[in-house]
Amino acid sequence: MDTTKRTIALIAHDGKKADMVAFVKDHIEHLRQASIIATGTTGSYVRQTGLEVELKLSGPMGGDAQIAAMAAEGKVDAIIFFRDPLGKHAHEPDIQMLVRISDLYNVPLATNPATGTLILEGLF
Ligand code: PGA
Repeated sequence: MDTTKRTIALIAHDGKKADMVAFVKDHIEHLRQASIIATGTTGSYVRQTGLEVELKLSGPMGGDAQIAAMAAEGKVDAIIFFRDPLGKHAHEPDIQMLVRISDLYNVPLATNPATGTLILEGLF
């Protein structure tokens, strides 16, 4: 990972993966300037846009927890996390932890494209 670049984490629940791919396409020029990390399945969708992505574990297998740990260590500059407000998730505790860690360490966290756009405009 290039430490001089901003690191952006991307996570999308299944019902929001299409929205994430659309978001990435809309902001590809900004995102190309960053190091991108993502939970496993989200990352493999995002790679289809041509963006380089470092894949973490799939969310339900601990990917959210890995990204939370990186955020706690100061290794993540922003998190774009499109949660599915209509879904139930086996890894709900990890999701809550990621949101808590972002608040604890003051890491920008977007849960929808409108906020994600504002964060990227602020960072780049
Ligand atoms: P996924 O994980 O990208 O591996 O689907 C996202 C999540 O559900 O937290």
